[in-house]
Amino acid sequence: MIGNRIERARHAAGLSLRALAEQIGLSAMAISKYEREEVTPGSDVLLRLARALGVRVEYFFRTEEVELKQVEYRKRGELKAADKKKIHADVEDQLERWLKLEEVLPGDWSQEFALPKGLTGHISSLEQIEELALALRDAWQLGHNPILDLIDTLEEHGIRVITVVGDEDDIFDGLSATCCGGMPVVVVGSRWPGDRQRFTLAHELGHLVVHGRLNEGIDEEKAANRFAGAFLAPRDALFKTLGSKRKLLELQELILLKAEYGMSVQGLLYRAGDLNILSQNARKQMWGFLRRNGLYDKELGDPLPPEQTRLFKQRIYRALAEGLIGDSKAAELLGMPLIELRKCRHMECPSHAAD
Ligand SMILES: [Zn+2]
Repeated sequence: MIGNRIERARHAAGLSLRALAEQIGLSAMAISKYEREEVTPGSDVLLRLARALGVRVEYFFRTEEVELKQVEYRKRGELKAADKKKIHADVEDQLERWLKLEEVLPGDWSQEFALPKGLTGHISSLEQIEELALALRDAWQLGHNPILDLIDTLEEHGIRVITVVGDEDDIFDGLSATCCGGMPVVVVGSRWPGDRQRFTLAHELGHLVVHGRLNEGIDEEKAANRFAGAFLAPRDALFKTLGSKRKLLELQELILLKAEYGMSVQGLLYRAGDLNILSQNARKQMWGFLRRNGLYDKELGDPLPPEQTRLFKQRIYRALAEGLIGDSKAAELLGMPLIELRKCRHMECPSHAAD
């Protein structure tokens, strides 16, 4: 079992056998033997491994094993196999820490994901997805208002959201998967601006909602995108702000809307086309303008700060305050050095939301 854990931590750290071996002054062969469990590492080696891999020694002995299933990547190109393994291992590690936390802090806070009853069963056009998004907003009591914190909204409804750094080439956007008996898991890159993260999250929510409801001939990717737009910036709210028929839009209007709804200017422009606020011609004209001015794939307007996952950390500090866990367990669950946790508890850490 330890071998498996060493290998997983090595992938999570993005290290080859040789790179890890060099760091701790052993041969690649020796590490490989540990991973295949032909040899059991002693405590001194485990300590060195833990340091090099950025985990605590307890990590190697953890018994909760999480396995991601039905993994679907959202990416802009081909991800390297090593990057996939790294992301996978990181997600599984974070999910295992969740499981551990649930053990020490049981309660009704980890709600099961369920879609509201009565959602339309058959979608025969993309337009119908507008209604679906509104129905979900209603059931979740979001009204037509902008969603301030999408991660929080999803977590509150039983979707586990994990953020990971991703790959160096910036290809990875996010992924969806299930784990632990069918719980939906959505993963999003932690470094992306808020609007890009939010679209990814809403897109993945879209898959959960539209899957199995689409009539033949409707592409699920397109449906998930339409859902994302409709969920983030509901039709009626846009009609109210922009009007239902326009000759053209000023980019500044969209920049103001971006700040309000947390959706990119380009996404809003698509949306205005989808909702026929703009004619096909007007839409083409505006895209043409963006292309000619090199603005097509640029961030327009102020970037939105990335969203944060807070629930997990909140629950750890709660368990700590209630005396259900000690400093050392809290540090392990948070994945931070004990000394850092102690500093944070005394308000001496640079970032109070340390990862
Ligand atoms: Zn998708």
